[in-house]
Amino acid sequence: MSATEQPNHRQRRAVFLSTPGLWKTGHGRQHPMKPERLLRTHTLLEAYGAFDAPNVRVVTPPPATEDELALIHSENYVEVVRILSEGGTWTETREYIVPWRYGFSEGDNPIFPGMYETESLKAGSSLTAAKMLYNDECDVAFSFGGGLHHAAKSSAYGFCVFNDTAIAIQWLVNQGLRVAYVDVDVHHGDGVEAAFYDTDRVLTICIHQDGRTLFPGTGFVDDAGINEGEGYAVNIPIPPYTDDDTYLWAFNETVPPLLERFNADVVVTELGVDTHYEDPLAQVMLTTAGQTAIYEAFDALAPRWLACGGGGYNIDVVPRSWTLAFGVMSGQEFPDELPEAYTSKFGGQFLRDHVQPEIDDLTQKRVRQRMEEVVAAVKQQHKL
Ligand SMILES: [Zn+2]
Repeated sequence: MSATEQPNHRQRRAVFLSTPGLWKTGHGRQHPMKPERLLRTHTLLEAYGAFDAPNVRVVTPPPATEDELALIHSENYVEVVRILSEGGTWTETREYIVPWRYGFSEGDNPIFPGMYETESLKAGSSLTAAKMLYNDECDVAFSFGGGLHHAAKSSAYGFCVFNDTAIAIQWLVNQGLRVAYVDVDVHHGDGVEAAFYDTDRVLTICIHQDGRTLFPGTGFVDDAGINEGEGYAVNIPIPPYTDDDTYLWAFNETVPPLLERFNADVVVTELGVDTHYEDPLAQVMLTTAGQTAIYEAFDALAPRWLACGGGGYNIDVVPRSWTLAFGVMSGQEFPDELPEAYTSKFGGQFLRDHVQPEIDDLTQKRVRQRMEEVVAAVKQQHKL
């Protein structure tokens, strides 16, 4: 489908992949990746009546099968995750499992009961989204439980066990499609980038807080792909304290021309909302207005749009920003006052931010100077 044939937004068929199994269990009480992020988002959308619109469908995804997980992960790792999840310590070939060799330890990636079921369901969610887009059953699909962009072939990493996003992309590539991936999570999408670093079938674009100041410490401008993939990995490392205007300027200077040049069949996005100024894990200063402008840009740029969730650790911000995202996807505008069915359980008042982050003039000036340098370097690296 070309951009000119894009259905008008009111008619855009939007799918929301959701089921309580996605938030049934999680990394533990003290961990920032709280399952309640997903419960709250589903509850808020439901309270707004978002799922009642005639162009919207809520779809219950099945878990990804072992073969589907193996589109990206090693069979050994898939087995290890299953056994650790069940409390076991030996593989069928009598390998004694040393959890840290597979990225598991207290801290970022604890082993938890039901881990295999929950995490394979997140992978199944993004994969179902990919299949529905491919089969022309929808125009946009939001796998809000996915976006686990750090998971590696044989290792958990950065709160991520299975890389649902890379699995969905690989499946689409196997059907012969060209896929562009744009990651606006505040952290570099290292796992997805690594999975497609040597191919020209997938363009990866990651905009993230500079790796010298934030986990995972990678994703610099000259990391641009290898072999056939040279030039097909784009990294835009942004300075801490970047605000809405500066971010959107950098986005508009780079992302639309890159997507237009690549001309993908499907655009896959990782919509981590840890770019928000109230996020406890990073220092980028976006508001829900800036994040909504990003969603609107994707809506205009993506012929078919597979949206995945991702990071976001302020539990009051995540449901609001992803509700705004699904509003853009499905052509719905929600009242600013949060519905009572939501506030009676989770508190809060407004859907959109009413307070702006405070950034002093000198910091803002330095950020803008640095951003101009970064954008110039990206344009040079990628001949824009
Ligand atoms: Zn993140």
